[in-house]
Amino acid sequence: MAIPPNTEYKGRFAPSPSGLLHFGSLVCAVASYLDAKANHGKWLIRIEDIDTQRCRPELHSVIIDSLASHGLLSDEVILTQSLELDRYENALEQLSKRNLIYACDCSRKQIKSRSPHYDGYCSARNLSFTQGRALRLNNKNTYEHFVDRILGPCYIENSMNIEDIILKRTDHCFAYNLVVVLDDIYQGISHVVRGADLLETTTLQMYLHRIFDAPLLQYAHIPVASTKPGFKLSKQNHAKEIDPKKALNNLVSALIYLGFSHEQLKAFEKIETLLCFAIDQWRINLVAKEREFIISGANDVYSDFISESLAN
Ligand code: GLU
Repeated sequence: MAIPPNTEYKGRFAPSPSGLLHFGSLVCAVASYLDAKANHGKWLIRIEDIDTQRCRPELHSVIIDSLASHGLLSDEVILTQSLELDRYENALEQLSKRNLIYACDCSRKQIKSRSPHYDGYCSARNLSFTQGRALRLNNKNTYEHFVDRILGPCYIENSMNIEDIILKRTDHCFAYNLVVVLDDIYQGISHVVRGADLLETTTLQMYLHRIFDAPLLQYAHIPVASTKPGFKLSKQNHAKEIDPKKALNNLVSALIYLGFSHEQLKAFEKIETLLCFAIDQWRINLVAKEREFIISGANDVYSDFISESLAN
């Protein structure tokens, strides 16, 4: 008998098109996809291009096509953040009516001269929100820990957690932490599976969910793929882009990274059957319980994904 879809589980993969997919992003896409499908839930792709200075519109379709070459297709229409600005603006208006945000004209230099973190200096100044000013959250966060589905109990001790963080920048671009939460609420996301480089944002995002009266999500953080400690594969450090023509091999490497054995996977010749097998065998506790996982170019499984400048 076919298992009915799980209407409770909705996951997502939310790439920022500031560069092409690299192995670290593929691993997050695959993990979030398998976890959603293994739980009979839905899996969505969302293009997080809110930071227009860093993102390149021409990459949207390249990323979506590359995911499709790996058999990773969104179950709903793909949401693109740059087309959702009115919704974000409405949310900020709500916060403004509730006195939860305020305008700030402090420069970085001024902030640093007063304290290591933003000290709430503008909270009582009642500045209007005009060009050159940022909007800050009147942050009363009390969340400091949560239980990650992979890493277990996580305590988050960083300034972002408690500081009056910026929700709209001086260039009037909305901040990642605001829009990621608004979109997770809007799309009915229940489970987040993403890279551990975002672990530290989780308690702040939980607080934002509460502010918007939305239920909290389940989080699972995948170890960040690095070439040596502290050197994660990223768009900034020229991680090699994923070659969609090698999709089957790419998937096998991503699955090994996520805890599968080469032995289990070597016989597969088709993406569809490989993904079906991986969905069936997916156990989140196979993923390494680490914030970072070192991959080496000397290992055949990963050599394709490390550019020479990084391997040395
Ligand atoms: N857009 C973010 C990134 O590319 C991911 C956001 C998230 O998964 O919460 O790093």
